[in-house]
Amino acid sequence: METELNFAIQRNSNSSLEPWEINNEGQHGALVLRYRDCNLSCYLCYFQPYAYLNRTTSRRPVTSSLETCVNQLNNLDRSIGWVRIQGGEPLLNDSRSKSTSILAGEVLNHIVSNNLSSYENPRIIIQTNGIWLGNASVDKIDEFVQKIVEYLENVGYGKIVLEISFKGSNREMANSYAKSINTTNVDDVLATQISGYNKLHESIKNNAWDNDINRLAIYPIAGFGPEINNPGIIPIQKIENSEYPIFHPDTWDENFSRVIDDFRNTLSTNESVYQDYLNSHGNKIPMESMEPRRFQSGWIARINDRPQLRAFAENNLRIIRAPRLNIFMNNIGFVPEADENLIQKVGELREVFYEADPKSHYPYL
Ligand code: SF4
Repeated sequence: METELNFAIQRNSNSSLEPWEINNEGQHGALVLRYRDCNLSCYLCYFQPYAYLNRTTSRRPVTSSLETCVNQLNNLDRSIGWVRIQGGEPLLNDSRSKSTSILAGEVLNHIVSNNLSSYENPRIIIQTNGIWLGNASVDKIDEFVQKIVEYLENVGYGKIVLEISFKGSNREMANSYAKSINTTNVDDVLATQISGYNKLHESIKNNAWDNDINRLAIYPIAGFGPEINNPGIIPIQKIENSEYPIFHPDTWDENFSRVIDDFRNTLSTNESVYQDYLNSHGNKIPMESMEPRRFQSGWIARINDRPQLRAFAENNLRIIRAPRLNIFMNNIGFVPEADENLIQKVGELREVFYEADPKSHYPYL
């Protein structure tokens, strides 16, 4: 297990919560922990400097022991909506994965014991790219899940959520978006992520759901996506001379479709997990509760620093109504505005995913 955990925090922060930071996500604020280092190098990563680049920006790295990290939570002086442990990659390797399971459990324990959640059902979210899960043995994954289950049972309350952040719904997009540093370990990002998702899903089913422990959830999500009411930036994908928002079902790889179907089926057969999902997200996908516009503007702001990112944006994005992003428009003015066709396709996306029967809602983005 990693005894020294590597995080990144805001420079010049006077907060005594280091290495934690409070984000104004959702309506309640979120306590966010960002690890350093990742096994992917996504173009659109808004945490590039600490995930895979060695640059000095507004954040600086910090090393903390697990114990210190948890103890620092005592300085939290307000309630929060949720806690999220995220990239860099929380499940980078065996050692960090073990640490993360303990960290999540300890944080849940602390939040529950000190009544620090502004929601009735406190939740800790572990957001992972799933690459370690895809490569790890079933035993290692079971060990990871069993540790989390042990905490959930001991704490007796609250929830831990595993979010697998897919980088694309087909092989080409996933590989292009999540270009790996180490191609010997990850030469097919989507296949590795799908394998990881399936293994984790199976382990959660065996170790938790089949034993009536439903406070452990798994959601497939994506690292970016449109905000439907005010799309701002719509990532598009060109297939046979047509343009679709990324993750539009017409662009899905068959195996990815299966993941989504399995997820939907599993949810509907686990009533309390399903109800919890609906209560938490309603018609919305998880990324929407995380203010995607703010998320998007994070990496857009750095577009000129990154030639690869600029090229990706030029080839893959359209910008439409985005008043809050005007500040960045001078930098990316060459990205053309959406035409009627694209707006119509966004409309279709809304119809398919937001106005469908609740049974077919799923947080795939
Ligand atoms: S997996 Fe996440 S943290 Fe890692 S490079 Fe991609 S977006 Fe960044």
